[in-house]
Amino acid sequence: MTSTTDSPSPLDFIRQDVQGMHAYAVQESRGMVKLDAMENPFTLSPALQALLGQRLGAVAINRYPGSKVDDLKRALKSYVDMPAGYELMLGNGSDELISLLAMACLTAKDKPKNTLLAPLPGFVMYEMSAQLQGLDFVGVPLTADFELNTPAMLAAIEANKPAITYIAYPNNPTANLWDADTIRSIIAACRAYGGMVVIDEAYQPFSSLTWLDEIRNDPESNSNVLLMRTLSKFGLAGVRLGYMLGAKALIDQIDKLRPPYNVSSLNAECALFALRHKDVFAEQAAIIKSERERLLAALAELPNVTPYPSDANMILVRFDHATATFEQLKTAGILVKNVSKMHPLLANCLRLTVGTPEENTLLLKELGSLPD
Ligand SMILES: *Cc1c(COP(=O)(O)O)cnc(C)c1O
Repeated sequence: MTSTTDSPSPLDFIRQDVQGMHAYAVQESRGMVKLDAMENPFTLSPALQALLGQRLGAVAINRYPGSKVDDLKRALKSYVDMPAGYELMLGNGSDELISLLAMACLTAKDKPKNTLLAPLPGFVMYEMSAQLQGLDFVGVPLTADFELNTPAMLAAIEANKPAITYIAYPNNPTANLWDADTIRSIIAACRAYGGMVVIDEAYQPFSSLTWLDEIRNDPESNSNVLLMRTLSKFGLAGVRLGYMLGAKALIDQIDKLRPPYNVSSLNAECALFALRHKDVFAEQAAIIKSERERLLAALAELPNVTPYPSDANMILVRFDHATATFEQLKTAGILVKNVSKMHPLLANCLRLTVGTPEENTLLLKELGSLPD
């Protein structure tokens, strides 16, 4: 016990590992050009805002969410054109789905299959979900050019028989897609002992490829794959809506861990609204993708600056002095993410979210690639 006095404290009942953790930090961003969190920079037009307001006003908020959420599931199934034999479940953001997956796995006494595995650097929630559930976590370093290290991944899978292997496609924060043959060999290695592979497609609106095509072409080889997506980067980060599809028998089990009313009627109405107006969001994604190419080209021209290829709405960039550049941008009112201390492979790297054309121009001016 950490208590230094004799008086008993409720804190004595709170897990020591939790007390030792740092809370998830969100950077203060008021008044800043916000290029730190892969948000869609575009807001709804006044006409669409008014229409959404009407819709939300008419939602029966006196009732628990029910049919509205069923409507949303149906709409998403049609949006993704779900393969036969598959089922879809909803999460309050895909962060919740990641937590539920960890909760579903075997516990500490069931070694070795109580392990979660993911390449590093990667999305921090995979490791955090393992930690919070008392599962082991194995991180396998990417190669220096941010590709999957195929032999290292396969060796770690063989040694640990992870319950779940996470593959972010594209990856965060490196923004790249990984070699499909390597992913196929990972899925096959896991399938051999019944391990699940979660393909996390948070950046699907900006990606040139989706693993869903792979699943459709070869459902048998992908029978242990769960495909996770979110509407956050699509343009609804404030709404909190993630979804996951996979073989019905598997999804049905994981869905039992979901708090019954995890997605509010208001979330569901917003998501339905966005799907009804998906063309608007598709146009925004098209602008973001073309802006990404403009940023990549301009950054590549700068001396001592290395931007890495991106299939997402972010660009990982290596500078000579990342922290100094981060502070310089911050002073200029531009907030990006300093990932340089996150992992040795990310030394001197910043992660830039693609903003509006105007925001990106400001960023490029500050970095010296455009005249003031
Ligand atoms: C942003 C992100 C998520 C989480 O999205 P939410 O739905 O907002 O919880 C999941 N996976 C990856 C790789 C991400 O970058």
